[in-house]
Amino acid sequence: MSAPDAPAAAPAEALGQAAVRPTDRPGAGCPKQMHFGPCGGVEFDGTCEVGEFACVFLETPTVRWPTAEPALQTALSNAESARPTAESALPSSEPLSPAAAMRALLATRQIVVADFPARALDARSLADCAGALAGRVDAALAGDSGRNRVQFPPAYRAHLIREAGLAVWTGLNCRDRNRVALEGELAGLADAGASAVHCVTGDHTLTGGRPDAQPVFDLDSTELAALARRAGHLVSVGESPCTPPVDRRAARLAEKVRAGAEVCFVNHAGGAEPVRRFIGESHEAGVAPAFVACVPVVLDRGSAALLRSFTTLVLPEGFLEGILDATDPHRAGLDAATRLCEELLQVEGVAGVNLSGGAADGGEVAFAEAMGAVADRLGLGAGSAAAPHPES
Ligand code: SF4
Repeated sequence: MSAPDAPAAAPAEALGQAAVRPTDRPGAGCPKQMHFGPCGGVEFDGTCEVGEFACVFLETPTVRWPTAEPALQTALSNAESARPTAESALPSSEPLSPAAAMRALLATRQIVVADFPARALDARSLADCAGALAGRVDAALAGDSGRNRVQFPPAYRAHLIREAGLAVWTGLNCRDRNRVALEGELAGLADAGASAVHCVTGDHTLTGGRPDAQPVFDLDSTELAALARRAGHLVSVGESPCTPPVDRRAARLAEKVRAGAEVCFVNHAGGAEPVRRFIGESHEAGVAPAFVACVPVVLDRGSAALLRSFTTLVLPEGFLEGILDATDPHRAGLDAATRLCEELLQVEGVAGVNLSGGAADGGEVAFAEAMGAVADRLGLGAGSAAAPHPES
């Protein structure tokens, strides 16, 4: 085990060539081979998401991001420099890249991002869902679907969504791709005009889809954030304020910010107060990324079932029951999501909301329409600033 709070040497190697992770590194024994753990899948009782044993990071001091990249570290050495600003997004009179346009938007007003509910491997479904959201939300958060492990490569998915007129905030995970494959995706995403890249470690193959596949986990989310930032992307990461170790989640976020993240998606935390508390703790840890708070969208039993499959989900008390027991669950779901968005947008430091969830099979476009309706109700002007297609 490494000395507590010592800057770790392994990540610099891990982002270089032919790195081999030593067996005495922090997190040795983690099924995802994480260096900057723990992941967001730690169960509420502290057990690993993969097996019946305690998460190996629970007793490990937060692993520090090394100061191996002077230019990046200088740029990120204080909280304000990590936060998107209009100045940093507007280098010249040249047309803004999608990433620069999203930075400028974040510096201008609060944003609305929506999970992307389209069917995997179905270009028509992607186009239809993008059409339902275009002009209404600022970007689709299009990550790999947990239900369908074989899917279009992220860069191709981003291309299709952009073709349909919607900005893309691409979710990229380390589960099925080694560092070389991730580097290729990051290059493809830049070429396809992704507005941002959301860097996650990903679920283990043993937790569900495709247990026959070997998990890769060559990098983890913090390392991927650094890689994506070096590739020129606007980078976001996720953090789960209610997932053990609760008292060190903000410290972990701080290391992700030092690695290159500018935006933090705050996982479902049970309402505005836990989000306010987490933002305060992050400030105390020395970082102030743009915080985008996740808001559950539930319209029926199918979408409720899908939401329940999210790891370490915490909802406001009575949230699901209030929708599913209503005479008109669809309307009640829209009302509940809108209310929670409005509460979260009042919290100081919240830069936007992420409409989160998905539909039962066959309900994808209707679900996208519903998320668009919530965005319409918020009246932030979302969708008006979608980045132009790179070829236009
Ligand atoms: S919960 Fe996540 S970080 Fe902890 S040991 Fe398991 S896979 Fe690793």
